Amino acid sequence: MKIRLPQPISLGFLLSYKCSASCKHCMYACSSKWKDDWISHEDLYKILSRMAGIIEPCPYGANSINLNYGLHFTGGEPFLNFDLLCEAVEMAEELDIPSTFVETNCFWAVNDKSTKEKLSILKNKGLKGILISVNPFFLEYVPFERTERTVKYSYELFGHNLIVYQHEYYKRFRSLNISKKMSFEDFLKLEGRTDFARNTEFFISGRAPYKIMNYNIYMKNPAKRFFKQPCNPPFIRSWHNHVDNYGNIVPGYCGGLSLGSFYNLDELTNDGIDSEEYPVLNYIISDNFEGLLSFAKERGYKESKGGYLSKCHLCVDIRKYLASKEDFKELKPEEFYQHLED
Ligand code: SF4
Ligand code: SF4
Repeated sequence: MKIRLPQPISLGFLLSYKCSASCKHCMYACSSKWKDDWISHEDLYKILSRMAGIIEPCPYGANSINLNYGLHFTGGEPFLNFDLLCEAVEMAEELDIPSTFVETNCFWAVNDKSTKEKLSILKNKGLKGILISVNPFFLEYVPFERTERTVKYSYELFGHNLIVYQHEYYKRFRSLNISKKMSFEDFLKLEGRTDFARNTEFFISGRAPYKIMNYNIYMKNPAKRFFKQPCNPPFIRSWHNHVDNYGNIVPGYCGGLSLGSFYNLDELTNDGIDSEEYPVLNYIISDNFEGLLSFAKERGYKESKGGYLSKCHLCVDIRKYLASKEDFKELKPEEFYQHLED
């Protein structure tokens, strides 16, 4: 059976998985321990040229931004390689790609002068906006004063093309007078164990299940509890997918999975993915997690007696095991599975 991919209308571009942080909730298992595998100049151009013409602008126009339209540059932390980020922004502008923005953890915003300078350079090269990441997991690595500084100058330069994700935490950190870094443990003490994610969006996927399991915040459930729960947001969709530095099409927020190579996009959208060739993907696309669990058990996977925190926990745990046993083409990049517990 062949499963055709819808034409993507918005994408995130991971320039590498290398990051200054190793957040407990990172969906892509990024950290400083990854190889310095930044995308090459040639591949950057090839991928951006292919994105041109398919990326749709934000409903308010090509000069505005929205999470689920346009193109965002991400990682890892794209400001770790500022020259490459500048090059990518410049190319995207030349190729007329609409609604571009960069996603950052703000580690680099060490003083007013350099912060303003970096943001102005990007704006002058054609960047339309910025997404600033804020939550207690970033707070473990980035002093909050740097986040506040980036928000201040981003608003001056990009105006309403500034997304603070998540604004709820931004408000809470300010009202708690936080300015430095803070460990997750200290934040829980300050805010209360069960309350930390109130009024926010939190996906227990990627690295999160392994890192927050021992805090006893969320209840575990047996695998079968998740068999009838659909992936949320839907696994196959046209919006907010990612392309990584290896050319993998990473579905939505599902790190460690590849729907195929972006270089073969036409084949994937016209002819489809051959389900025979990609057994793990086939189970996931058909939402058959019971089948995926049996498939893994036949290969020696032991279902966790203690249960799982979420459907994504079950999914990533099975994939981590399978990736350690065989070379599945859809379980890429391999390094993702080695950095889940960084
Ligand atoms: S969540 Fe963002 S800042 Fe944190 S490790 Fe992942 S890529 Fe880096
Ligand atoms: S269960 Fe797996 S495929 Fe579904 S959203 Fe979670 S990580 Fe993605």
